[in-house]
Amino acid sequence: MSVESAATVKSGPRIGIPRALWYYTFYPFWRAFFNGLGASLIPSSPTTKAILDAGILETVSEACVPIKVFLGHVNDLREKWQRGEIDMLFLPRYVSWQGGLIFCPKFLGLPDMVRYAFEALPPLLTVRIDRRTFMGLWRACDELRSRLGATRSALVSAYRSALRAQAAHERRLRENWRPTESIVGVRRPRRIPTENARRPLRLAVLGYPYLVYDEYVSLGVLDKLESMGVEVVTAETLQAQKKQLRHPEQKDLFWHYSEMVKTVGYYALSPTNGDIDGVIHVTAFACGPDAMVNKLLELEARKEGAKPFLSLGLDEETGEAGCLTRLEAFVDMLRRNPHRVVR
Ligand code: SF4
Repeated sequence: MSVESAATVKSGPRIGIPRALWYYTFYPFWRAFFNGLGASLIPSSPTTKAILDAGILETVSEACVPIKVFLGHVNDLREKWQRGEIDMLFLPRYVSWQGGLIFCPKFLGLPDMVRYAFEALPPLLTVRIDRRTFMGLWRACDELRSRLGATRSALVSAYRSALRAQAAHERRLRENWRPTESIVGVRRPRRIPTENARRPLRLAVLGYPYLVYDEYVSLGVLDKLESMGVEVVTAETLQAQKKQLRHPEQKDLFWHYSEMVKTVGYYALSPTNGDIDGVIHVTAFACGPDAMVNKLLELEARKEGAKPFLSLGLDEETGEAGCLTRLEAFVDMLRRNPHRVVR
């Protein structure tokens, strides 16, 4: 039985959660937490054209594609609620999860955006998550417990099991599991062939998890590279090398995911990092924070000896054929590099 099905309980409220934005990072925490309180967490369906189109209809055209996708997933859950499949919708206001870093302003405004975008919505389960404040996460969880009418003693064990589930998820990501694999507890085997006795090409594919791991929005970039015989590492895995990540000229960004991508990007581009042959930055058009991250990485990539760099911008108009051509051209160029390190 997969982790996902094993953790779903039959009784208690059924809470819908959008399979977008923070889903890839924090779903295991909320699943363990709500299950511990006797509720079940039901994600929206994986992203499809219909989900994205529904989100586009409810959003201003200038919004980034992840926000359009998020609204599409809210719409999917709204339909599930109308069919009687869920009882409420979990919509936290993510402010900060670690250190002084905060989430992008669009994350902060999500509950308001959703309320104004749709006329009929399931009852919303909203809470502010700000770990910069004393016991911020605990207090948010206590507020949710009280909304669900669960006991305080249930809260303690639900909270502990949520922290354990989150730590296990993060450990699996550092071991190069994809979040989607970690969530269901099954890792797909990857067999990348060696090329004429040389090690396979190893590329860092960096970007916000809700872009990189959403197979529809990212146009399956990870699978495409693997089918070309490329070994892929992502930002979550590279974070395991934390001690080496600090860059002397680094400008700190204050957005949670942007800081992660920038820090790991500097590390991956470094000429001393012989393990990585090139860096692909998967970036969202119309994203303010990402425009800054991309520029910083581009400047870093121009320095002598830096690893080859490709910026892959995505939005709802990006065509699969164009994306594939760019990936193939990048991979071909790297394969011709005679100095690639032999393992
Ligand atoms: S960080 Fe960028 S892509 Fe993510 S929600 Fe904010 S604007 Fe959109």
